[in-house]
Amino acid sequence: MGETGKGADESDDSDESNSNSDKKRKGSRPQFARAADCAWGLFEPQGGRSGRDRTLEPEGVRPGVPERASNGAARARPGIRTAAHADPPELQAWLRNTDGTTGYAGILADVQTVQYTDDHVWVSATGIPSYPIGPWPMNPNDATDQDYRVRIPRIPAEQTGAKTSTPLGRIGAFTNGVAIYNPLDAFSFQNRGVWNQNAVVNEAPSFDSCLGHAPPNGEYHHHQNPVCLYTASSPQHSPLVGFAFDGYPIYGAYGYANTDGTGGIKRIESSYRDRDIAHRQTLTDGTALAPADWGPPVGSNTPPEQPLGTYVEDFEYVSGLGDLDEFNGRFAVTPEYPAGTYAYYATTNSDGSSAYPYILGSEYRGIVDAANFAPGQVALDPGALTYTGPATGIPVLPSRGSFLICVLLLAGLGLARSTGTRKPRNVGS
Ligand SMILES: [Zn+2]
Repeated sequence: MGETGKGADESDDSDESNSNSDKKRKGSRPQFARAADCAWGLFEPQGGRSGRDRTLEPEGVRPGVPERASNGAARARPGIRTAAHADPPELQAWLRNTDGTTGYAGILADVQTVQYTDDHVWVSATGIPSYPIGPWPMNPNDATDQDYRVRIPRIPAEQTGAKTSTPLGRIGAFTNGVAIYNPLDAFSFQNRGVWNQNAVVNEAPSFDSCLGHAPPNGEYHHHQNPVCLYTASSPQHSPLVGFAFDGYPIYGAYGYANTDGTGGIKRIESSYRDRDIAHRQTLTDGTALAPADWGPPVGSNTPPEQPLGTYVEDFEYVSGLGDLDEFNGRFAVTPEYPAGTYAYYATTNSDGSSAYPYILGSEYRGIVDAANFAPGQVALDPGALTYTGPATGIPVLPSRGSFLICVLLLAGLGLARSTGTRKPRNVGS
């Protein structure tokens, strides 16, 4: 609700990209519980690393290059089915729809095609996830097929000049093709553009249980941690959940405690906090505002008072407060990048709620491919190849429902095994 500027995309409802040959290939889809998934999800050793090459790579070097299949030496990705991870994450992490799975309103779900050259990855998607979405209380908008294609840089590099602000609309894509939005909702106090509304707070009544919703153009999106895409849990490094349009990967809420991959797993903490203000009369940098630009008083949820967090200007970045920089990222080893990569994190609080700035901050750290900000489809390089590797997507853990199915399946297997021996089970041994 509230996002603007992309309504023209609604008229483009061609399903050209959905009729690609990619659907002919049948691949494993990790989000549904099967006995093998149960065994993997419950018993695969987690958190260990190969111990090889812990040297962090310099900026501008493509992370993961040694993992390219062309060298024939696939590097193991710890804790994840290793045979399926011979290709670079920016190709393989996408949850490609290889079996025609549909989501909301019968729309083809997840990513339709992944195409690439040495420098870019093109991702075509409907923007509809395979997990159930809706309903959207207090939101008149519906989620529709966006039939979009974006272009992700494969060699991300820091923007050393003026950083690019994250605009309204898509700022990146989750690995299932669902749009990532920044923390803004396009509204500001008295429309002055000084105190800008925090979408996670102000739009909360319109989110579904996956914390997503659609603006008038029908683009379903998350402004925050995608709680239905993966399960955040402290013993396990969160999966790679998306890519920003500057090419840097985005991880879920948990990562290695230390940037060199040591210290176990912890919740990765944002370095933003609520400002210590009673009045909205100054900006974060201390600039005194003219009275006309003052915001509503800080206080309760009863107008004219508005609690801290209502506006993004209610937060301040404090270097070193958490684990991440002002862009909500850091350079660190991850399971997919044993040599390290800069990455953003979908930050949460200790109670699991989303922590500002949620995914990316107000600016990208890297050089952004601005072609992605236009609605529709970014032009495809005629020399681009279609990625046909294993469609692993992210290592989605069993959902609560599938976890129960797993437990029942495994209990059944145990019962069958004990029945087969025709011996009474020696409970307690
Ligand atoms: Zn929104």
